[in-house]
Amino acid sequence: MSNLIGVIGVGHLGRHHARIAALSSATLVGVFDLDQDRAREVASRWHVTAFETMEELLGAVNAVVVATPAGTHHAIAADALGAGCHCLVEKPLAADSNDGRALVTIARDRNLVLAVGHSERFNPAVERADALVARPLYLECTRLASFQGRGSDIDVVKDLMVHDLEIILNWVGEYPVDVRAVGVSVMTREVDIANARLEFPGGAVATLTASRVSLTPIRAVRVFQRGGYLSVDLKEKRIRMIRHSTAGLDVSEEIAEGPEPLKAEQDDFLAAIRTGNPPRISGEHGVRALRLAEEIVEDIHGRLERLGPE
Ligand code: NAD
Repeated sequence: MSNLIGVIGVGHLGRHHARIAALSSATLVGVFDLDQDRAREVASRWHVTAFETMEELLGAVNAVVVATPAGTHHAIAADALGAGCHCLVEKPLAADSNDGRALVTIARDRNLVLAVGHSERFNPAVERADALVARPLYLECTRLASFQGRGSDIDVVKDLMVHDLEIILNWVGEYPVDVRAVGVSVMTREVDIANARLEFPGGAVATLTASRVSLTPIRAVRVFQRGGYLSVDLKEKRIRMIRHSTAGLDVSEEIAEGPEPLKAEQDDFLAAIRTGNPPRISGEHGVRALRLAEEIVEDIHGRLERLGPE
């Protein structure tokens, strides 16, 4: 029997989740959004139900995608898991790591899948780089976005940098021993632009910059490892490899191809439900990235306090 899926929150991202679920191997039953007009608009596009309450939706499905603002993830996902629904929760898993851990515990106790929407891990360029990254010595991540107003209930580290934290934690395979960071608020009450330097126990170093107040959007990662380096443009899905060869520098370039990341992510979620194997980005992965984001923000605030008032 195919999974009966619902989407909670059909704003900027959730409407894409609804489209993908409607065209997937699962059956999209309906959507719920506090903004009823928005819910009706998305539901009518896919000929499904716009539920008037979340409880009604939870009673009609066995899996949900939660694509509401981060501050609501814990309460909504806890209700959904409590109602026996598998959950794919958008990143960040929750507003803080304690709430994230609580969701992991509920999912484990109820034997339900909890996957986290770190969709960049399903970006074809990142998947291609997964095969090329061996033992990174230095990683540099740049993620600059223009100000949209969305996501401003949390800081830019949990909102955007968390994508890169999840990617590099996976590549390095260790958790940092030292975290240094700076950041400032520009447009919101939270940190809007941040830079972090992480040192890993095996000697690798990573620097990350994330901004939601930039004029030119960039999503890029560079990885130095013995014998060469890799430059990945996540937006263009372009990978450049620069290696040493007997003839000098060997430079190659390719454009990675693959399914839309949100589709790959939903397929992985559905496969986890079907097989009982963990999803690629589990609740535990979501908590780990969130905990590191919190350490970065703690260092930023500590530094701002030491600087004193303006
Ligand atoms: P958005 O503001 O465009 O949409 C959020 C929607 O949730 C709105 O329609 C709002 O009415 C609804 N909503 C708010 N509270 C609700 C509640 N309690 N119950 C039901 N509906 C509720 O925001 P967005 O940009 O779509 O972001 C949503 C989530 O997706 C966030 O967690 C964000 O971090 C994540 N996101 C992920 C990516 C990615 O690349 N994976 C990209 C963008 C956003």
